[in-house]
Amino acid sequence: MFAGQTVHVTAVRRKDQTIDFLEVPKQDKAWVNSLKKIPLIRGIVGIIEASAKGAAHLNFSAEKFAEGENEIPEEVEAKAGFSLSMLLGVAFVGVLSFLFGKFVFTLVPVFIEQALFGHMFESRVGHTLIEGVIKIVLLVGYIYAISLTPMIKRLFQYHGAEHKVISAYEAGVELTVENVQKFSTLHYRCGSSFIVFTVIVGVLIYSLVPYETLWERVVQRLILLPVVIGVSYEVLRFTNSLRDVPVLRYLGYPGLWLQKLTTKEPDNSQVEVSIASFNRMREVDRLSAQ
Ligand SMILES: [Zn+2]
Repeated sequence: MFAGQTVHVTAVRRKDQTIDFLEVPKQDKAWVNSLKKIPLIRGIVGIIEASAKGAAHLNFSAEKFAEGENEIPEEVEAKAGFSLSMLLGVAFVGVLSFLFGKFVFTLVPVFIEQALFGHMFESRVGHTLIEGVIKIVLLVGYIYAISLTPMIKRLFQYHGAEHKVISAYEAGVELTVENVQKFSTLHYRCGSSFIVFTVIVGVLIYSLVPYETLWERVVQRLILLPVVIGVSYEVLRFTNSLRDVPVLRYLGYPGLWLQKLTTKEPDNSQVEVSIASFNRMREVDRLSAQ
């Protein structure tokens, strides 16, 4: 998926090899746009919006990919009509699963840390630091595990293809499959870097707040979660602005390391789809600018 000035475009290759597009115009409500201008708040709005849009576009890809496969028997289709995502709306489910994942990955490390090291020493900062390390290990393990499934592997290949296309475009070369393939699957300005920053920022913020019991620690983590997300987004923006500054650009590297997991080398046909999607986005933007 590519986000332009006026539109989000997802391209998908169907089984019959044709390329299909989903174009969702950006038409944010005025109050959403004003929220997006407020530092700290804009990160939270952005992440909720991204999970909603991401889910909608992924759902489109899955449906289009399945199209052209053997006709789906009617009873299966009827059953699918009662699925949770149909009832709640795909975008809403996307937001819910994001929040659920955030809760799990915020709270499970607290319990593990407390169980393993809770009575060993007194330092709150020490405990919070170990909690952060456990969180990274769990996240990396989780992403690695899901990347072994064919569906997520394909998704990560497309993610790599998108980074390549953007890098090629930024380098000013013509967008051909051959040119685009020469670029790295890692891109400095990637949303998945955000995950790494939430862990690091979390350790810093949680270290500042005292707690007595395990439950205080848990409740605190939940209450501070929006703060951590808001600050992490500002950190991401800040490191993006430093990408051309020598030495300081290394601040963005932890995010790039995570991309070694969330991107994979795409094949030529996947790069072709990404180029098509990117060109379509540019075209729609150009037409609406007229
Ligand atoms: Zn990315």
